[in-house]
Amino acid sequence: MSSSPTATKSPVGWDQDPVVRRTPRRAPLAENLRADVCVIGLGGSGLAAVGELIRRGLSVVGVDAGRVAAGAAGRNGGFLIAGSAIAIHEAGRGWGLAAALDLYRQTLTEIGALAELLGPEVVRRVGSIRLAGLPGEPTSQAEQEDRKLELADCDEQFELLRAHGIAVERYDGPLGQGLFLPDDAAMNPARRALGLAELYAGSARLFEDSPVTEIRTGLVSTEAGSVAAGLIVVAVDGKLEMLLPELAGRVRTARLQMLATEPVSPGRLPCPVYGRWGYDYAQQDVAGRIFIGGGRDRFVEQEWTTDGSPSAGIQQWLDQSVVRFAGAPVRVTHRWAASVGYTPDARPLVTEARPGVIACGGYSGTGNLVGPIAARAAVALGMDGTQPADYFAS
Ligand SMILES: Cc1cc2nc3c(=O)[nH]c(=O)nc-3n(C[C@H](O)[C@H](O)[C@H](O)COP(=O)(O)OP(=O)(O)OC[C@H]3O[C@@H](n4cnc5c(N)ncnc54)[C@H](O)[C@@H]3O)c2cc1C
Repeated sequence: MSSSPTATKSPVGWDQDPVVRRTPRRAPLAENLRADVCVIGLGGSGLAAVGELIRRGLSVVGVDAGRVAAGAAGRNGGFLIAGSAIAIHEAGRGWGLAAALDLYRQTLTEIGALAELLGPEVVRRVGSIRLAGLPGEPTSQAEQEDRKLELADCDEQFELLRAHGIAVERYDGPLGQGLFLPDDAAMNPARRALGLAELYAGSARLFEDSPVTEIRTGLVSTEAGSVAAGLIVVAVDGKLEMLLPELAGRVRTARLQMLATEPVSPGRLPCPVYGRWGYDYAQQDVAGRIFIGGGRDRFVEQEWTTDGSPSAGIQQWLDQSVVRFAGAPVRVTHRWAASVGYTPDARPLVTEARPGVIACGGYSGTGNLVGPIAARAAVALGMDGTQPADYFAS
């Protein structure tokens, strides 16, 4: 491991965390190695694959183009919310209720496993609030009407979860009305990934700053080295179709954006809060800083892009909605964006893209929990030939 510290001037608000700042950078791959499995992408998903491969007693090399969690895995909202990118009743209608419930329960188990692995300092089991609308009173007739529709949708979600013994409560409090999901959690996503890398580094060889230039059956090449491996797992969410062009049409890259603020009224957001049909989301860290994302529905066409830098339109939207979430004007300190992959029906993709090359990605904007589950399914497909569950597109 090299000793140069992680850059302190990152635009990403999460990187201000002292643990993230002082985590040393790992050396790039600079030789030709052999391993049972090579994992490309060291975000939350790739690291889950690494963990699973270690558990199976296999030799693993993991490579990332940048730092661990250089992509969305280190730049997201930090919500650990059970389920997939679409609400469970909607997923049930699209994929079948059994598949939607199965994935929901898997993600609940994943929260518990992560909390146990990384501890309460990284995974805060505070629950989450789904609000109808944004915090505060509606500011227009249209907002008022949309809120009514969304409350009815919350009711549908409530009834379904209750009917299947999954914890859910109605929320009626200072932020508005909606649902409280007590088993959900919050994290600093960069802390999660760096923590996992630290845990696994003794049993797997992990390399940063090593962009993969070519993937062939049995061989992964970077500029300065290569990995010969019987199985290759590509755990890349955004821009997956650039690395494996045969997946174009099955996954499509979009940009999601966030900003972070200076500390404001601690306790204003007791847990991750998402509103307006989940399009806007914010959490407050223990220091009182607000991390907010969203607005993609306002700029749908512009956000189908592989550009990973923030844009003026979405950032202006976030400037307005952060006032609603914070309850008062607040100073913005960081602005950033990252790429994610979408699939046509929001089912994550786990597929053999080339012989011996299994890809997972396409979490449609919600991959902190589904990503690791998909990555383990990718390992099972590659190692045992186990076909992915119905809630995956394969
Ligand atoms: C702004 C934003 C907010 C979000 N909020 C949430 C949220 O609150 N909750 C939630 O569940 N999900 C959220 N998501 C989605 C979630 O972040 C992603 O689905 C998830 O992090 C994907 O993780 P991953 O490990 O699969 O992939 P990625 O994070 O995409 O990681 C892939 C890794 O592969 C590396 N890589 C790419 N190309 C190469 C190459 N050629 N060679 C080597 N390495 C390469 C990248 O550097 C990267 O580190 C959000 C996403 C964004 C952008």
